[in-house]
Amino acid sequence: MHKILIKTQNVFRHFEEDEKRIPVLRDIDLDVREGEFLMLLGPSGSGKSTLLRLLAGLAEPDGGVVTRAKMGMGFVFQDFALFPWLTVEQNIRFGLDMNDTPETLKHRVVHQLVAKMGLQGFEHSFPRELSGGMKQRVGIARALAVNPKVVFLDEPFSALDTFTATKLRAEVLEIWQERKVTMVMVTHSVEEALLLGDRIAVFSHRPATIEKIIENPFPRPRNTHAHEFVKMVEHISQLVE
Ligand code: ADP
Ligand code: MG
Repeated sequence: MHKILIKTQNVFRHFEEDEKRIPVLRDIDLDVREGEFLMLLGPSGSGKSTLLRLLAGLAEPDGGVVTRAKMGMGFVFQDFALFPWLTVEQNIRFGLDMNDTPETLKHRVVHQLVAKMGLQGFEHSFPRELSGGMKQRVGIARALAVNPKVVFLDEPFSALDTFTATKLRAEVLEIWQERKVTMVMVTHSVEEALLLGDRIAVFSHRPATIEKIIENPFPRPRNTHAHEFVKMVEHISQLVE
């Protein structure tokens, strides 16, 4: 049996626009299972980020219920969302500073993450001095610093060139395997969803709901060029449209 960390039942969310209620999410029933790599896949505007925020408890639904275990969480954003006035090291330790962690432990955690994410030599740089890929390395390190049970990632590779994105995908997968952390990632890339996810929640454009939850049939490591993989990408792409 899978332990359920987060559960949504019948979740509904809307936004007001010109005094009209626009449904953004409707009838969402989704579990986040401990230790899984869950992908939220859909076209732009289908409500993925909204659902991610609800799952994380950053927003509340207008209807239905979100049940959430009490646990540490980390966040990684498409635009990195680093603190521009803090150095790399200060960005990474931000969550620990909030948590009142002993200084020696902070030091060790930051040191390990700097090494893990290949940020040696940049500890005292500011975000503006870094490439996009390096910024996201800091973003990932910052999310991991608090030793979270769940990491929420909202299109973390969308702003990166394909080489950097490919490399960081592999690293995130490795981190997930090493740390046995739960990951929930938003993407609009079918290939990325199928490369990374254990399960893929596929959103349809309208009426803003989860069309289908796909169990990934491919064992890891996955080969995105394999015939079966490519066929599955095509199959899922048709669902997303
Ligand atoms: P996705 O992440 O899949 O691109 P979002 O969850 O960001 O989609 O948004 C889903 C829909 O809700 C979009 O049509 C967006 O314009 C609308 N929306 C999101 N946030 C707000 C908001 N704060 N106010 C009004 N509309 C919003
Ligand atoms: Mg989004």
